[in-house]
Amino acid sequence: MPELPEVETVRRGLQPALEGQTLKSVIVRRAKLRIPFPKDFARRLTGSKVERLGRRAKYLFMHMQGGDVAIIHLGMTGHMTAISGKAPAPGKHDHVDFCTTAGATVRFNDVRRFGLMTLTTEEELETHRLIKNIGPDPLANSFSHEVLSAALKGRATSIKAALLDQKTVAGLGNIYVSESLFRSGISPKRQAKSVQGSRAEKLTRAIQEVLREAIEAGGSTLKDHRQPDGELGYFQHHFRVYGKDGETCPNCDDERYRIKKIVQAGRSTFYCSNCQR
Ligand SMILES: [Zn+2]
Repeated sequence: MPELPEVETVRRGLQPALEGQTLKSVIVRRAKLRIPFPKDFARRLTGSKVERLGRRAKYLFMHMQGGDVAIIHLGMTGHMTAISGKAPAPGKHDHVDFCTTAGATVRFNDVRRFGLMTLTTEEELETHRLIKNIGPDPLANSFSHEVLSAALKGRATSIKAALLDQKTVAGLGNIYVSESLFRSGISPKRQAKSVQGSRAEKLTRAIQEVLREAIEAGGSTLKDHRQPDGELGYFQHHFRVYGKDGETCPNCDDERYRIKKIVQAGRSTFYCSNCQR
């Protein structure tokens, strides 16, 4: 499943093809993905100019001149590819094409169709039902250790579970939570409320570092995710603990201390019980 870095990678990859461009046509080949397309989806976007591509957590926003905003989520298996020149005939899972007057096609492919596209307006974006309950984006300027500490305060749940809760921090999935906790030396089993002060500072820094490195590396590709240019991302090679159970902890660098795998709330957690407290 694409996580925040993958979605940010997609956003950056699509910027040259879409920003400042006018949509000549929008072709929707199905009535619905996870939710139905708005009936006027293609009509409202056609002829309109894309001012900029935005993102909040794992949602992409296509801000249109005139005040419409297309909300896009890649779901489990969605990807978007920018094709310059004549696009090949669409395949079975190519559900939407955005064609620009400059001759580019941005194609949305989604095998499992858990992705979605809908429309709102600039005025209603913040209160849209999909957006209003999303917590702070860890890469936004407004995110800080104070924001994180406040969100964790008084919570008896594990820090792992609290970070997976999208209301605490938005867009962090299982992989990046494991990696961030490892880098900040915090045990995934620690109570969320005890992550305050310098611990919260370390964790905030680790979350931002891990995400930025992932974005630079082009997003991870555990399963089925491709970069907008069709290449596979490669951050997966840089995971320090995720999927590394049984291997020597790269931080302790001592064979006695190996990465463990535990299951918390149904999700795998990878960590070192020696250097994560
Ligand atoms: Zn260790």
